Amino acid sequence: MKESFQAVHAAEIEDFFASIGLLADLKRGCLKCQTCGATITPDNFTLMTRRNGRLLFLCAEKPCFLSLFKTGAET
Ligand SMILES: [Zn+2]
Repeated sequence: MKESFQAVHAAEIEDFFASIGLLADLKRGCLKCQTCGATITPDNFTLMTRRNGRLLFLCAEKPCFLSLFKTGAET
């Protein structure tokens, strides 16, 4: 199965980060993947979620993306 989520345009991702006030952090490389620590960029950003009041980001690496569904009850 092809990974259709990668069809999102980088410009849309930038708009999204701008809307939550984090575009500058994205462009500075301040946002890290919650799972592997990779720098989040418009190219590899896959998903953002909120847990315990903190924003968490996940890159496009499959283990990182899948980790979201495995660790729901953990802190
Ligand atoms: Zn990652």
